[in-house]
Amino acid sequence: MSLNNTNDYRMVVSADAKARSLFAARPYLAGEAIYPMDYWSEETMPMHVTNHSCDANASFNEVGILTALRDIAAGEEITFNYLQNATPASPWNFECLCGAANCVIWVDAAANEKSSA
Ligand SMILES: [Zn+2]
Repeated sequence: MSLNNTNDYRMVVSADAKARSLFAARPYLAGEAIYPMDYWSEETMPMHVTNHSCDANASFNEVGILTALRDIAAGEEITFNYLQNATPASPWNFECLCGAANCVIWVDAAANEKSSA
């Protein structure tokens, strides 16, 4: 599979449980844009390989640009919180492996939708 790597990030396919991940290829400052959301994400696009974290270092802003929430070092994995950035096309429901102190353990977008409605 050929991935669209850039000077900004690289997509890594590994054999562990997460399988695919997005890593910063350079440092990002808090507030810096990383990539725009693409609802029609294809396998080779960065959004497709960006993992969820309950303690994410990036988030989509109001115009759909993934933006660094804090400084991100080169080589650090880029993550966003799927529950905060739920899309109708992505009914997330999986066990979370992020290991953050505030981890929700199970990412269930449908249940999250109901509890916040
Ligand atoms: Zn988690």
